[in-house]
Amino acid sequence: MRHPRFEFVRLKYLRACGYCGVTETSAGSELTIDHYQPHASGGTEADDNLVYACTKCNQYKHNFWPTAQQLAQGLRILHPLNDDISIHISANDEAGYLVALTPTGMFHINLLHLNRPQLVELSIV
Ligand SMILES: [Zn+2]
Repeated sequence: MRHPRFEFVRLKYLRACGYCGVTETSAGSELTIDHYQPHASGGTEADDNLVYACTKCNQYKHNFWPTAQQLAQGLRILHPLNDDISIHISANDEAGYLVALTPTGMFHINLLHLNRPQLVELSIV
């Protein structure tokens, strides 16, 4: 069953994955709703907790939620709209891959596999 806020979240994220930027056009389908803080970790259905995400990012992220120890080290997933991503990640537009600027950026890129070959290819400008 579709998430009741599916259409709202879809439009809020301009029909693109909040984590990797893949569009519905590139994915060839609608994307999915990710709970930024998973249900399993106490996440709610609040609009802020709903991220439009492609299947792959959603799979890679799965039920990840940082432990207190990880959080203390800044090891967490960045929120597409509530975090300033540019502090943590820079894009090498020529080579098409993402470069981590902080440990959080590195963790985020690795957990979500944001330098997967298909994304790198898609990002070359
Ligand atoms: Zn994605």
